[in-house]
Amino acid sequence: IDDFFKNIVSHAKEYGFVFPSSEIYDGLSAVYDYGQLGAELKNNLKTYWWKSMVQLNENIVGIDAAIFMHPNTWKASGHVDGFSDPMIDNKDSKKRYRADQLIEEKIDRYEKDGKSDKAAELQEALDAALNADDLAQLKALIEEHNIVCPVSGTKNWTDVRQFNLMFATQMGAMADGAEQVYLRPETAQGIFVNFLNVQKTGRMKIPFGIAQIGKAFRNEVIARQFIIRMREFEQMEMQFFVRPGTEMEWYQKWKETRLKWHLALGADSEKYRYHDHAKLAHYANAAVDIEYDFPFGFKEVEGIHSRTDFDLSQHQKFSGKKMQYFDPEVNQNYVPYVIETSIGLDRLFLTIFANSLVNEDLSTEAKQDSRVVLKFHPAIAPVKAAVLPLTKKDGLPDKAREILATLKMDFNTQYDEKDAIGKRYRRQDAIGTPYCITVDYQTLEDDTVTIRHRDSMEQERVAIADLQRLIQDNVSW
Ligand code: ATP
Repeated sequence: IDDFFKNIVSHAKEYGFVFPSSEIYDGLSAVYDYGQLGAELKNNLKTYWWKSMVQLNENIVGIDAAIFMHPNTWKASGHVDGFSDPMIDNKDSKKRYRADQLIEEKIDRYEKDGKSDKAAELQEALDAALNADDLAQLKALIEEHNIVCPVSGTKNWTDVRQFNLMFATQMGAMADGAEQVYLRPETAQGIFVNFLNVQKTGRMKIPFGIAQIGKAFRNEVIARQFIIRMREFEQMEMQFFVRPGTEMEWYQKWKETRLKWHLALGADSEKYRYHDHAKLAHYANAAVDIEYDFPFGFKEVEGIHSRTDFDLSQHQKFSGKKMQYFDPEVNQNYVPYVIETSIGLDRLFLTIFANSLVNEDLSTEAKQDSRVVLKFHPAIAPVKAAVLPLTKKDGLPDKAREILATLKMDFNTQYDEKDAIGKRYRRQDAIGTPYCITVDYQTLEDDTVTIRHRDSMEQERVAIADLQRLIQDNVSW
């Protein structure tokens, strides 16, 4: 399992999908850069989400709010006071950990050792301590259960303290006139503060949604989970505003719609599950995660939350502006209720990557053979087609470039003439290109080429004139 995960990380790097940030300086912890193919894949995933939210729903519109927001936004939202994790430091290794995660790991260990009674007991104690925000109790659990620092191996712990996850910086040139602002820890608030603007200018009628894709920042303390948990990441969030009392219906609808959306990308349905939140945030009256079965276990990819009127009411209180909607159908003014769908683009990226990466054994009796393939859904594949002249001479490259020119306005394509054709096919398999178009001597005579299908490796002879339509039919949404 670990090997499979290592394989994902190294394949992502080797083929230009994901690099550690500022790698020449040995990287920056929990920050990553997307390379030439990663950026394409990410864009395709964004497009898939945006189209299915904004383009396919008459009553959902998209915005692009700024990362910086008025500091009062985060007081109203509760992030200044409440967006924190309970941290504990080991005095010997000087390493900082999330107290609840250290305890979770101990619970896992009890389970693995067959001590399920102990595991259940500790889980219950942990939930109780978290619910009561009882930091002293968290520390007591760590001591009682002899939890040691994974680095130093000692139990020399500090007290447990709350650590706010927001990154703060100064706005304004002069220190004395400077005001503390935050990098947004979620994109949702940019939607809530624009509720009135969008509703009025877009003449939106409830129920309606506002969608947004953008960066979010969290000073996460644990690292080493590749792009599962990053300090700078991207969210795709949609807030759906509904009449109070109808929220459970909409919650159910979005819960089902969102899972279908994931499944349409081609993963097995057993790889996904719902996980209902046992502990609800103070503002939520229902919440569920969609989890994916990663090589290291099920992890949240998307959350669907019924957030009541909490956010709009808080902004009403802090801004003094009426965050209300006049509903002509019931002839009433009210603060709308909200169903949120919130997905991490980077986690989705990893889901797709883990699900698509296949090591195929192609051995026959005559010889051993294998290939590495990224079996992306053609619609999200970073490169749609590669045009390959069989040889570097006799005008085949010119003909290949001519074909390339007819395709590249519509699709992201590659041209490759280096190495034997079999090797070139393997290179395209490894980056998930669904179609390889090979130009050979027959092409010069009859304007046909072979098109090779990534998954079946089958080849068929087609007219150049049909290529555009053939690819289009298979890579469109
Ligand atoms: P977790 O419990 O895993 O920390 P969360 O419950 O804090 O996640 P939300 O605040 O609900 O996450 O954020 C919505 C989505 O944003 C998550 O489902 C996840 O896909 C993504 N996300 C949250 N934090 C990170 C992060 N540090 N790095 C990458 N993606 C993240």
